[in-house]
Amino acid sequence: MATVVMKFGGTSVANVDRIRNVARHVKREVDAGNRVAVVVSAMSGVTNQLVAWVREASLLHDAREYDAVVATGECVTAGLLAIVLQSMGVQARSWQGWQVPVITDQAHGAARIVDIDGQTLRERLDAGDVAVVTGFQGIEPTRNRISTLGRGGSDTSAVALAVALKADLCDIYTDVDGVYTTDPRIVPKARRMSKISYEEMLEMASLGSKVLQTRSVELAMVYRMRTRVLSSFVPPEEMKPARPDTWDEIGTIVCDEDEIVETQVVSGIAYSKDEAKVTLLGIADRPGVAGAIFGPLADANINVDMIVQNLSSDGKSTDMTFTVLQSELPRAVEVLKGAREAIGNFELVSSGDVVKVSVIGIGMRSHAGVAAQMFKALASKGINILAITTSEIKISVLIDAAYAELAVRTLHSLYGLDAE
Ligand code: ADP
Ligand code: ASP
Ligand code: MG
Repeated sequence: MATVVMKFGGTSVANVDRIRNVARHVKREVDAGNRVAVVVSAMSGVTNQLVAWVREASLLHDAREYDAVVATGECVTAGLLAIVLQSMGVQARSWQGWQVPVITDQAHGAARIVDIDGQTLRERLDAGDVAVVTGFQGIEPTRNRISTLGRGGSDTSAVALAVALKADLCDIYTDVDGVYTTDPRIVPKARRMSKISYEEMLEMASLGSKVLQTRSVELAMVYRMRTRVLSSFVPPEEMKPARPDTWDEIGTIVCDEDEIVETQVVSGIAYSKDEAKVTLLGIADRPGVAGAIFGPLADANINVDMIVQNLSSDGKSTDMTFTVLQSELPRAVEVLKGAREAIGNFELVSSGDVVKVSVIGIGMRSHAGVAAQMFKALASKGINILAITTSEIKISVLIDAAYAELAVRTLHSLYGLDAE
């Protein structure tokens, strides 16, 4: 008997019919003798609608009330799934974040789980219950308020719960049958990987592949939780129950590097449309100016990603280009204007019409020339690079948004990732 956490995302629970399908997946595991905890997202589109209502109510809103509203989507799904399971003769009970409890920090809207007390749920599983737990939400104990984990946060709830329950496996059911070399909705030739290392998945997620929330991969990596991505759209009867020995037969397993026999130099391509580019023109070229720019941004908790500095032709002034999250652009501009005295004169130009395209692969550690190949291939398609960043296992370039798909497709072919 295995303890399994099954997580179902928005499209998997989009309506009562889909919830019935999910219940059949759950029943399959119960019938096979597995102990099961289920984590559910809101029905697809619901969280977007809730966020839109909050914004309509007031653009500048209280983060605690935002969480009070957006956490409700998951409550509906958890209750509905428990009802459907019960109607199928499966002993089931829904659990909201505060009931478990899933304890988080105070960062409302993007809270981190600090602890899950798994005791009560473990007892319920021992008694033969299926526990249906709301994803995405927890409770912030100092003020006793509902908190949410940031968009896509149900993945993180699932992995964290799997760790707390000492589960054997964590299955993330979604609308694709695994992790692909790139987003299969953009590149039809993308290939499913049967395994991907924690490190590569972490880079893919943080560079824009939203199939798993970044934090969920971090947790899986730290706790070595075996996490699998698979499709809820495969008929439940056609899938085997989860067993540690046959677990790697379908989907994609996120696992240790050592478990992957066949490695490629580049394993995947990610892209992110969430970036915005800021350029400060004509700033004085003197020691301390970078600190004067990036210090106040850091103080305001605004993350800066790519940075490029160019000396102007007269050699006296310089232009600084960098990227921030598009959602933080208005705040970044305000902060920079406020720091004008320390920075000195400058002209500010910003644009959200950019995309960051990244190639990822642990093979890059031991292979030279991956970047050069990338730049040449992009140039051959007439794609101009606005900024570059690299790490040991990834190279990212910032380009015009209009070229996003062309760039991803070009790089996917370049590194031999296309399916035959
Ligand atoms: P869920 O609602 O189940 O959490 P998401 O929409 O958050 O589902 O994540 C699944 C989606 O992630 C897929 O539909 C796919 O378009 C997208 N995606 C992006 N990059 C990848 C990738 N490399 N492999 C698989 N899916 C990807
Ligand atoms: N419902 C939340 C969202 O749409 C959490 C999730 O689906 O993971 O972001
Ligand atoms: Mg998701």
